[in-house]
Amino acid sequence: MDEKPHRLYRKLPQVGELLDAAQAATLPSCHSREFVTDATRAVLARIREEIKAGGHTEESLDRCLEDIVKNIESEIRILLQPSLRRVINATGVILQTNLGRAPLSEAAVRRVAEIARGYCNLEMELATGERSRRDVHVEALLLNVLALRTRRAMGALAETHGAAIVNNCAAATFLALNTLAEGGEVIVSRGELVEIGGGFRIPDILRKSGAILREVGTTNRTRIADYTAAIGPNTRLILRVHRSNFRIEGFTECPSLRELIQLGADASIPVFEDQGTGCMVALDEFGITNESSWPDSAISGATLVACSGDKLFGGPQCGILVGTRSVIDRLRANPLFRALRVDKLTYAAMEATLLAYLTGDLESVPILSMLRLSAETIRERCEVWVEALRSSRISAETMPTRSVVGGGTTPSASLPSFAVALRHPELSESALAARLREFDPPIVARVSDGRVLLDLRTVPAVEDRDLVELLRAAFGEKVRPVNEAG
Ligand SMILES: *Cc1c(COP(=O)(O)O)cnc(C)c1O
Repeated sequence: MDEKPHRLYRKLPQVGELLDAAQAATLPSCHSREFVTDATRAVLARIREEIKAGGHTEESLDRCLEDIVKNIESEIRILLQPSLRRVINATGVILQTNLGRAPLSEAAVRRVAEIARGYCNLEMELATGERSRRDVHVEALLLNVLALRTRRAMGALAETHGAAIVNNCAAATFLALNTLAEGGEVIVSRGELVEIGGGFRIPDILRKSGAILREVGTTNRTRIADYTAAIGPNTRLILRVHRSNFRIEGFTECPSLRELIQLGADASIPVFEDQGTGCMVALDEFGITNESSWPDSAISGATLVACSGDKLFGGPQCGILVGTRSVIDRLRANPLFRALRVDKLTYAAMEATLLAYLTGDLESVPILSMLRLSAETIRERCEVWVEALRSSRISAETMPTRSVVGGGTTPSASLPSFAVALRHPELSESALAARLREFDPPIVARVSDGRVLLDLRTVPAVEDRDLVELLRAAFGEKVRPVNEAG
């Protein structure tokens, strides 16, 4: 056997020695000795592997050992780096599932922190000290908000309706199908047998719920008569799925929700709408037409309506169910309801978000304030960025672009916007975008036509100064040609 690796191995310090050296150096004393020992072992093991693979000479090993405390420190930094990190969304896609969908309002964040820190009356009625249900914390408020948004008297909806929340809209749909249609048939248009994303396919969830799919119509055209003809003794439910992420254009037809509700009423069959987006405000003012309104659905006379909490509603991840009192009671009595329930933090964030809608403080809901930002305001911010980056080595210019609403609104829903378009003298656009994701906080940008676009609609204005500084620090000063004046 070759003697040389043995000599190299013998140069490696003992863990104990290294620990003393590391402790004496800059390692923070807040880390336990066990943790630092593990990190040290990991670094030594890596060097041993390198020696084994023939990757070291005596000199390279000496150099490596000189830096070993630094390596232990960086090992520790990597181990302590949170996996879930705050990022700057400069894609201009307002609702992006990959980036955590809706940011919460300040009020919601404060409420979450306040409730998280201690105990709360999650399932206790304070007046009597008796046990209560957790869903009381949003039910009345939610129904009042829906009444308000549909210009009905406060409390008008509470007489006939109930509401409950579960983990997400997929869970809400699953619970609804299982509760209302297990063992029976559910009538759905072939144009609505969709995949919402992330593996949520209507036919699959329907099967798993124990219901039997009864498809009617064709992909592009389904008439009310198709539904009528499909009704039989085993029919339990009529399902309407909002076409959130695609559009069928051209020779198309599908009955309105109102027609389905009429049919359901005539045949004594409940109608369930998976509305999806939870859109609370008319989007017409942003040039987005025909977007389904959740409050309108909720009061439409449908037996039950489900939507997401973290799409256009702008709240925490959850699935919101609003329906007739008796149906909501049946959902609550289903043992699955317990398995799909949400925690106190979700209730805290939901309550705060609903209060913003109740008081009309829509500007405090980040999704809505981003929707409302004018292109002109965004352009002015872009100009400030461009000006501040003028002396840096990346070139920046203001460019018109379109922001995308995303998150299950019609796919064509987009808003005029502006972006800071970046180009680096040496890096390709995708390499530059990758560099931006290494920032702290990482910046997620869009790549288009040889440039990296930062659409500032989805970047909070309070971040502008810090982000510009990050860019300037990362890319440094331009080497100024001698003939450039000023
Ligand atoms: C987004 C969406 C869902 C899934 O909602 P999650 O809250 O992500 O579970 C279901 N149905 C429709 C119509 C949607 O738009």
